[in-house]
Order: sequence, then structure tokens, then C-alpha cells
Amino acid sequence: MSPEDFRRHGHALIDWIADYRIGLEKLPVAPRVAPGEVRAALPADAPEVGEDFATVFRDLERAVLPGLLHWQSPSFFGYFPTGASYPSILGDLLSSGLGVQGMLWATSPAATELETLVLDQLADALALPPAFRSTGSGGGVIEDTASTGSLCALLAARERASGGRANDDGTDGQLTVYTSSQAHSSIDKAVKIAGFGSRQLRAIAVDEAFAMVPEKLAAAIRADRAAGLAPACVVATVGTTSSMAVDPLPAIGEICRREGIWLHVDAAMAGTAALCPELRGVHAGLELADSYLVNPHKWMLVNFDCTAFWVRDRASLVGALSVLPEYLKNAATASGAVFDYRDWQVPLGRRFRALKLWCVLRSYGLEALRSHVRRTVAQARRFAEWVAADDRFELAAPPGLALVCFRQRGPDEPNEQLLQRLNASGELFLSHTKLDARYVLRLALGVEATEDRHVEAAWAAIRRAVA
Ligand code: PLP
Repeated sequence: MSPEDFRRHGHALIDWIADYRIGLEKLPVAPRVAPGEVRAALPADAPEVGEDFATVFRDLERAVLPGLLHWQSPSFFGYFPTGASYPSILGDLLSSGLGVQGMLWATSPAATELETLVLDQLADALALPPAFRSTGSGGGVIEDTASTGSLCALLAARERASGGRANDDGTDGQLTVYTSSQAHSSIDKAVKIAGFGSRQLRAIAVDEAFAMVPEKLAAAIRADRAAGLAPACVVATVGTTSSMAVDPLPAIGEICRREGIWLHVDAAMAGTAALCPELRGVHAGLELADSYLVNPHKWMLVNFDCTAFWVRDRASLVGALSVLPEYLKNAATASGAVFDYRDWQVPLGRRFRALKLWCVLRSYGLEALRSHVRRTVAQARRFAEWVAADDRFELAAPPGLALVCFRQRGPDEPNEQLLQRLNASGELFLSHTKLDARYVLRLALGVEATEDRHVEAAWAAIRRAVA
């Protein structure tokens, strides 16, 4: 592709994306394709001779587009949202266009320094404890996902708990990890990858609001110590995936401090709320945490993938993940004066993700991001009020900041059928979970395009579907 062709196709592509976004409201939110249908509609083999981009693009429109769930639709209420604002798209495009690889400070100093700057700015914007700033002994880094961020936290915790020997000696099955029964599945996965083994993971019971019970945590730690085990890490959640419950960080943090256990906080979705001073209560007790993450790629209008991850003591993280082969040695690394973010993550290579976060922070400004959060919270509140006022429905959990868990009163099956009917209608998209072993519908808010009228239309569609 020549630079002139790139220019031409690129301009057309940006136009196409803008048109797609404008037209999203009219598309069925969920795809109506059978397994294998998309693949069967595309050429089976890669061509021997390159094709014109326009030909490739025609296949995208014809075969790929109908097979997509439209996550940016204003009527997408499933899972948790994934941001994809225009400034973040431009930032991502810049990252692709520059094509740099910031594994070391030396391989693109600006990529590292912009990332450090943006994460310090974001730490301020979220009013995170000062210990997480890079200006002290902490610091932030962008990981691809929350799953990776939590894995890195566990590796750092493992390293600290073993006195820096885990990498050499293994964990010997002694180290234990604690999280609530409502924690995201990425914690189970990270525990396995980090070599703890799932038998070393304790799922602590939750209360009626689905938040971890600190007394149960303390009892589990006591029992493990009595059995000769070595508690290494507690993972608390601010905004659980199923119901947006918030674990009580002050009490959990006290236990961790007392016991010398690493506290990692997963605030993948809900952490963004802390942009608003009046919602910062979700972070009460965070000053007791050793590490913390939030996904700007969920509610902060940054496109996937972008997880902001901070540690109080970067030495533990770097100690756990640093391996320095000859071919990466350089004067800047040797000087100790720079961050090499390859030591803060699992892979070696890294994209220039800071650009999209920077573009979002600068283009919107914090006030506009706060407005987005406030609008989401207000929409969730109103929806919860409608549910509570309708005898046919019940709230299945205390309404979360951006999530309402609800169900039709009675058995599970009609609720499962209701979800299927709604999603098949194409008018909206919801997902589900189980709470207290009951099937529950989840309405998650936070897509940028969602206006009040879309939430009203969703509620109208739900009521029609049970009439
Ligand atoms: N933690 C929580 C609380 C989540 O809700 C999610 C996803 O929804 C994750 C972690 C995993 O996020 P990621 O896809 O960034 O790994």
C-alpha cells in the first residue's frame, strides 16, 4: 500500500467509522448468526496475491459486521461496557501509526515518560493515596487487562511473602491467597498462573450485600497460620462483576496490615466513579492497599485495552518480573534513573497505550468525564426505582453505581426466557448472573451513547416482554 493509498483508504475508513457510530442506534444490538456462519461466508484461504483494500473492506461489511455484538450501541447493557470514544480511537490510531515499542525507556523514552505522567495525573484525578505516585517509591503502569494487572499483583505479593525467593525456589505450596466468593474469575486464573495452585486460594464468604465479610477473612487467615501455611495476598473488589458490591477495604486493610499480607484491590469497573468527589467513598480504606487497578477501558471512555495498575512499592513488582538478558542492557537501565516498563508486566514488548488515555484525558477534561459518570449513576438509580415500583419484578442486589441486578419474581426459567426474548429482539442487550443461586438479569450502564431515552426504551421493552 502506498502512502497515497493509505491516505485515501484511511480517510474513507474514518468516515465509515463515524457513519457506523451514528447509525448504531438502528442496528440490532446482538448478532443473529449461527456458529460457523461468519467463517463460511469468507474466503477460506489467504490469497497468494494481495487484494485491493476495498475488496477486503467489502468482505468486512458483508460478512464480519453482521456477526458483531454492537458494544457501542446506546442499547448495549450487557456485561460491563467497554469504552471506545473518538479521542481514544484517535489515540489508538496514533499508537498504530507511530508503531513504536516501549519495552524499555531506551526503546522510546517518550512512551515511558508519557505513561508515567498520565498515570500520575490519573492517580490525582481519582484521588488515589499519594503512595501510588511515581514520585515516591510507588508508581503506575498500563497493563493490557485487569486480569494481567491482578496476575502481576499476585506475583509481586508472592515475591514479597517469600522474601524474594519464590522465583528461585517456587512457592512450595505454603503461600495462600484470599478473595471473596464474588471476585472476578480472573483472580482464580491469576492464582493458577502465578503458581499458587487453586487449593491455596480461599473464597471468603460475603454478606447480604455480596461484600466480603472481614471476620471470615480473619478466621481463614488464622486457620491457615495454625496449619503452618503462609498467607500472602488478599484480593478485595471494589465493584464486583455480578452485582457491583464493594468489599469493606478499611476492615480488610487493617487485617492485611496486622498480618503483613499484600492487599490488592480490583476496581476494574467501579474505580472510575472516584473521578467524582461525591463518589470517592468506594475507595475508603485504599490507603491500606499495596496495589490497585481500574480499567479505563470500561467506564472511562478509553478503548480496549487499557488497565491502569498502581503499586505502593514498585521494587516488589520489578523484583518479581525483572529478567535482564544481554541484548536489552543499556546505559539508561544501568543508571537506575529510568523506568523500564517491561519489568512491570508479563510480556516484554508493549504498545504505546498511554496515547489513548492521554488523548481522552486531554480531549474531554476531567469535568466531562465526571459528567459521564454522573449521568450513568443517575440512569442506574432511575432504572432501579422503576424496577422497585413494579410488583412483577424485584431487585436482586442493592443497586450498584452503574449496574442494576433484577429479576421477575418467581422461578428462574421465566427469567432465562425473558433474557433470550429481549436479546433476540435486537432492541437491547442484557446479560445475566446468579446471585444467591438465583438467575438474575444485569443491566449495566456506561456506554457513552446511552441517553436517558434509551434506558426508558429498555425498561419499556422489558415490561412489554413480560406482559
Ligand atoms: N475484575 C472485575 C471486577 C471485572 O468486572 C472484570 C471484567 O468485567 C475483570 C476484572 C476482568 O477485566 P479484563 O477483561 O480487563 O481482564
